[in-house]
Amino acid sequence: MANKMDCDVVVAGAGLVGLAAAIALADKHKNVVLVSDKPVLETKPTFSAYSWDERVYALTSSTEVWLKSIGVWDFVDENRVSSIDAMHIWGSQTDLVLKAADANLAKLGLIIENQQLMAALWRKLQSLDVTLVTDSRCTKIEHTTNDVILRTDSALQINAKLIVAADGLHSWVRQQVNIGVSVKNYDQVAVVANFLAENPNNNEAKQWFNAHDILALLPLPNQHVSMVWSVSTEKAAQLLALTSDALCEQVQMQSQESMGKLKQIGETKTAALRQQTASQLIGERIVLVGDAAHQVHPMAGQGVNLGFRDVIELAQLTTKLHPMHDIGERAFLRQYERARKADVMSMNTLTSGLDYLFATEQTMLKKLTNWGLRSIARQPSLKRLLIKQAAH
Ligand SMILES: Cc1cc2nc3c(=O)[nH]c(=O)nc-3n(C[C@H](O)[C@H](O)[C@H](O)COP(=O)(O)OP(=O)(O)OC[C@H]3O[C@@H](n4cnc5c(N)ncnc54)[C@H](O)[C@@H]3O)c2cc1C
Repeated sequence: MANKMDCDVVVAGAGLVGLAAAIALADKHKNVVLVSDKPVLETKPTFSAYSWDERVYALTSSTEVWLKSIGVWDFVDENRVSSIDAMHIWGSQTDLVLKAADANLAKLGLIIENQQLMAALWRKLQSLDVTLVTDSRCTKIEHTTNDVILRTDSALQINAKLIVAADGLHSWVRQQVNIGVSVKNYDQVAVVANFLAENPNNNEAKQWFNAHDILALLPLPNQHVSMVWSVSTEKAAQLLALTSDALCEQVQMQSQESMGKLKQIGETKTAALRQQTASQLIGERIVLVGDAAHQVHPMAGQGVNLGFRDVIELAQLTTKLHPMHDIGERAFLRQYERARKADVMSMNTLTSGLDYLFATEQTMLKKLTNWGLRSIARQPSLKRLLIKQAAH
């Protein structure tokens, strides 16, 4: 490979959002280079019909429609995808069921394994004219009058009009250009594991909200469920120390035995939780997307959906640009930032607001939360609105 390249856009990071950005911008006829610090992903699935990736995502129907529109879905094995037909939420004294059918929707969203989605994105990417630079870390950014230069530890120099920073939570690009972040630490850890359940999951996503303790059981095919249990760091350590049988018992108890007996499939994994938002979504010839721009609590199952929405916006704005127009120009990047800020802010407010409401010790607020759930349950129009929001 030559040690100097020119392109319109260089995408830094090949996580879900970086891969999607490279695909979507190539689809808009941009000349794209993708830099990944990892090798090309092995795109053959390694899980059997009875084993499941511990890392799964809830994708909204809008995300699915978009992934179909850019040709990624053609590479997804639908047998490993579960639709979410309803959401069942339990508070301390009451519960609420939101059914897709009540809002005349086919489904609220779907559950897909990380490995499936990553493999589909890689396969689509490889069918496009995108230059791949793998096993290379970005190491230096320089600006010239009309370009930005990204250098890698593989001695490559990439001249571009724009860098799309998709390099995750600890974004190297974001740090290079001194964009700060505001952080809300929940002191919580997500404990994730998969189970085979005695009872069918009926394609229902279930969540139990307790004080700073949220258990989610998400439907997987063939009577499997995927657990995301957000708990204090201390409780996470206790859960991790349990045998598989003891963990099953704990989950059965916390989920009010609603799934019957559980049998763990695979390992127990963890991820630290926090809310992190970049103070700016753009820099000089730089845009932040995905976790590089924002990380939200997984309770709303929105993190990667939010990242994909960054990419959708960027791609849509690109369509409006004249082909000769400079994609790294400040006025263009400002449009992106303006368009994305409201979505990111409202997701932050939703997730931290919910965590606070269900965790509150204040009796009045607790009553209001339970009253809120009950009154939503009684009002079909409000329910329909919430269902449509969840599916968006
Ligand atoms: C427990 C848990 C459950 C979740 N569940 C959901 C869910 O149900 N629905 C949902 O929408 N979201 C969910 N999320 C959020 C989702 O996982 C993230 O939002 C998403 O994976 C972020 O993707 P990304 O591509 O932005 O970042 P990453 O996945 O972090 O990718 C960044 C990439 O950049 C690379 N990189 C970093 N530095 C460099 C460098 N210097 N040079 C080159 N490459 C570099 C990294 O190796 C990596 O490949 C969940 C998160 C957690 C923790």
